[in-house]
Amino acid sequence: MNKSKELKLAVFSDFDGTVTKLDLGDEIFKVYGKFEPYHSDLREGKLNIKDYWQILCKELNPGTNAEIIRTYAEQAEVDSYFKDFAEFCRENNIPVSILSDGFDTYINPVLNKFGLEWMKVYCNQLVFNNGSTAVPVYPYASESCECLCASCKRNSMLNNVDDNTVLIYIGDDYSDYCGAEHSDIVFAKKNLAAYCNENKIPHYPYSTFFDILRIMRDIVKKKKFKIRHQAKIKRKQAIEAE
Ligand SMILES: [Zn+2]
Repeated sequence: MNKSKELKLAVFSDFDGTVTKLDLGDEIFKVYGKFEPYHSDLREGKLNIKDYWQILCKELNPGTNAEIIRTYAEQAEVDSYFKDFAEFCRENNIPVSILSDGFDTYINPVLNKFGLEWMKVYCNQLVFNNGSTAVPVYPYASESCECLCASCKRNSMLNNVDDNTVLIYIGDDYSDYCGAEHSDIVFAKKNLAAYCNENKIPHYPYSTFFDILRIMRDIVKKKKFKIRHQAKIKRKQAIEAE
């Protein structure tokens, strides 16, 4: 019996530094507000992510609104092969979701610019009261995950797959650790690649979506995918813990 025939693929991708070349969230708060010392405090564990976003939002220059952020986001440099990758997935009926610990206010305009509004996005939200004063909202927070993210990527994945889904994860940084740990096929660069090495999570190193697209074509063509045993165990444990 060839069980692999029943399997289907689902792609989950980080946004900042993965889809966009720079961390767009960081750039926006640097340009329109105050970024340090808060970012260093976050990295050093002196601030948790929810408090961090709260402070950064308070520190935004008066008058900064969704429109200003949208206009800035539309200028962001995006990985040159991301759109080709997205179209390949769409042609092959592979759903692509964006998982981010950043905000909808700048993610959606980037996707819309490239005609990718069909992608599902799981991230934090910025709500602008009276058109300005930004307040962060965390619809995908998790109490049980150890990831320290405001938007838990693991949970957003688990809520959208079934037992026959092979989860593909793409990311670059610490907010991607829990997502990668619970995925079957991982594409990793930078901090995430180091984390995968330390924790013996098999992964494809990549530098751009050109590499990912090349490998994905091969995976799909040769049906080179299966459920990763350790990831399956972790998913089961996560579901039980929630
Ligand atoms: Zn998590």
